[in-house]
Amino acid sequence: MKEIIMATNNAHKLEEVRQILGNAYHVKGLYEIGCHEDIPETADTLEGNALQKVRYVHEHYGVDCFADDTGLEVSALNGAPGVFTARFGAMNGYGESHDANANIRCLLDKLQDATDRSARFRTVVALVQDGREHLFEGTVEGRILSQESGEGGFGYDPVFAPKEGNGLAFAQMTAEEKNAISHRGRAITRLAEYLKNN
Ligand code: IMP
Repeated sequence: MKEIIMATNNAHKLEEVRQILGNAYHVKGLYEIGCHEDIPETADTLEGNALQKVRYVHEHYGVDCFADDTGLEVSALNGAPGVFTARFGAMNGYGESHDANANIRCLLDKLQDATDRSARFRTVVALVQDGREHLFEGTVEGRILSQESGEGGFGYDPVFAPKEGNGLAFAQMTAEEKNAISHRGRAITRLAEYLKNN
């Protein structure tokens, strides 16, 4: 089985990606190569952040790897929070960065009077392989629910209902159902096709 490093220590994300890539690859997380530091994500685009992560790992650990960066783009907020999705709550006085509950409370408050609740998730995957960089993208269109539904998934999953989901939130779906239509599922599928053919 081929090995590939994903530049993340998020166990939930690793599990999703392992399911999508299947048996062809053994996907290792950063802790498995001894990388425990917080990799800087200071770019102002998803593409920039994904590239920053793979470049860091390639430079410091000398391995080929891929990384993803995801943003939620809400129409009524002119595409925000975008690259600031993980820090959205904290930036607006709702708890800590990366706190999913704070992020959701912030989003629901901002959309309280919105008539247009359409939004999309966009994932960019960067790959560094044999000294060359590649980018892959996946998106899913949907809308922000007015209250949380479901127990599954992570992050904004309880308030995001994809168009293809019969009104269900991502958090109400099985991992397989979510992966089949999700932003990350689509971007990782594109990565997998590339890896298979190269
Ligand atoms: P990251 O780039 O994957 O770290 O994600 C940035 C932000 O988007 C974090 O707040 C995540 O919780 C959120 N996020 C990323 N992917 C998903 C998802 O599949 N569902 C819900 N929230 C997500």
